[in-house]
Amino acid sequence: MPHAFRQYQDAPDHVFDLYAVNHARQTFEFVGEKRAEYAPLSKRVMSVWQAMEFLNSFVDESDPDSDLPQIQHLLQTAERIRKAGHPDWFVVTGLIHDLGKILHLFGEPQWAVVGDTFPVGCAFHESVVMHGLFDGNPDLQDPRYNTRYGVYRPNCGLDLVRMSWGHDEYLYQVVREYLPEEALAIVRYHSFYSAHQHGAYDYLMNKSDHALFKYVRSFQPFDLYSKADALIDVEAVRPFYEDLLARFFPDELAW
Ligand code: FE
Ligand code: FE
Repeated sequence: MPHAFRQYQDAPDHVFDLYAVNHARQTFEFVGEKRAEYAPLSKRVMSVWQAMEFLNSFVDESDPDSDLPQIQHLLQTAERIRKAGHPDWFVVTGLIHDLGKILHLFGEPQWAVVGDTFPVGCAFHESVVMHGLFDGNPDLQDPRYNTRYGVYRPNCGLDLVRMSWGHDEYLYQVVREYLPEEALAIVRYHSFYSAHQHGAYDYLMNKSDHALFKYVRSFQPFDLYSKADALIDVEAVRPFYEDLLARFFPDELAW
């Protein structure tokens, strides 16, 4: 039988534990604090390639499928997109999409870095992974936040919606000036599974979001199926990818 990815009902304890804390502590207020803390991008100055090397010590505890080094996951994702014949902006997006996980190396716990993301400030949709674990979230008792729309207006557009804090939103803040909007949508919403896989929260999305989610969905197969791939010789492909990066980014970025 082919291996099915993202099966959480038999998730190992550490995946369950991560979501238990994530769902209890990702509140509207918490996300506001984290956005403000990281908005100045004053943690480090480094190139994209340096960030890839910096990230390499990190193993994602939310992923039941992969214990690959992160640089391999990034290169494998980019290589699959390249081999499928997609344009440069898509390949470079694959290459960088998880660099926001350096949040963990800045001291953030994994529950505030990885895992599926979802809107805060309104009711948690039942299609969010491990939905039952939201019971401990104080926003569930707060009448400002526990209705369908919460603090938002119908179809206000995701740009106005606070997503649970993690590597997606953080990396979006770092690269927003350098990539086209399709790429930015992939960076910002690739962990928003309830929306791009189950169609949830369409009542917060606007026309532009729906158009961009076509790209977010098309990215998913390239992100998931990495475990079976052969390890990539990093130094062999490095010149090609440094060249590609130079077409989109300055030598150094503020992180
Ligand atoms: Fe990711
Ligand atoms: Fe990924």
